[in-house]
Amino acid sequence: MQPSHKDPPSPILRLYRINAGSCNGCDVELAVTASVSRFDVGTLGCDYTEDPGDAHIVLITGPLTVRVRDKVLRSHAEVPEPKVTVLVGVCPISGGVFRDSYAVSGPVDRYLPVDVNIPGCPPHPRAIVAGIAQAAALWREKHATAPPVQRNEDVAGTAGLRGRMRFNASACVGCRMCEHVCAGGAIRFDEGDAGLAFTLWHNSCALCGLCSHYCPTKALTATGEWQMAHRQEDKYRQVEQGVIPLVPCSGCGTAMLPVAAELLKIGYRGISRETDRLKTLCSECRQKESIGGLRR
Ligand code: SF4
Ligand code: SF4
Repeated sequence: MQPSHKDPPSPILRLYRINAGSCNGCDVELAVTASVSRFDVGTLGCDYTEDPGDAHIVLITGPLTVRVRDKVLRSHAEVPEPKVTVLVGVCPISGGVFRDSYAVSGPVDRYLPVDVNIPGCPPHPRAIVAGIAQAAALWREKHATAPPVQRNEDVAGTAGLRGRMRFNASACVGCRMCEHVCAGGAIRFDEGDAGLAFTLWHNSCALCGLCSHYCPTKALTATGEWQMAHRQEDKYRQVEQGVIPLVPCSGCGTAMLPVAAELLKIGYRGISRETDRLKTLCSECRQKESIGGLRR
């Protein structure tokens, strides 16, 4: 039988942390929420506990490695019902950069019911506190007699926070460099009749910024939108999407992806005066035209 909380419930919601094989990046950020007053979970009416039997909310970090899986499941079961389970960082949510590793059993929702996800790699303490506030509200919903907790509305220090990536389909030329450099496997392209569909999964994005760094047209940019904590039912809605429409080649009429003038200038080393014309041609026509141009 599952352990359960005695009534009346504790006036403090206690947080129990489980490390499911993390690199400790998220755990360091969790430590900040226990020790730095500006991000202190105490302002939410929460406190950390070392005793799973005394806890109300479980915070899990790490991708759930094969080695620790059974211990994690046992520790989670020791927390009394009704409990709220929160995944901290992209690793427990999707596997993050460890997704396809032979040593990883996760994502965690394959084994445990999950309530709240806090993406990031690692999430900023503010994002963690916002996620814990959602978890505390959910715990109150599950346990109507719980006392209200206060929201931490401290908005100081937003400058420089890493937030969700933004995609601009009209600037994208479908070169797929972003997909190639994304270690988290967060970016996917699907070819369709209307064009090339782009999807970026925020729950896999490590916010490393490599995609925007290597994007030749700056179609991908990092924003300061750090608040990405969400309920589990919204897990698969946390996406950035767009379609890069196909355009007809001005030479043969074949549907093709747009061509970036910036790339043509690099490819032709700035020697072609015909970049504007070349960018309207598919690669085959461009090749024929440029060979013809060289002969002239
Ligand atoms: S910032 Fe870009 S490259 Fe880095 S994990 Fe996110 S989508 Fe992938
Ligand atoms: S133009 Fe930028 S966003 Fe588009 S596919 Fe290339 S790297 Fe990705």
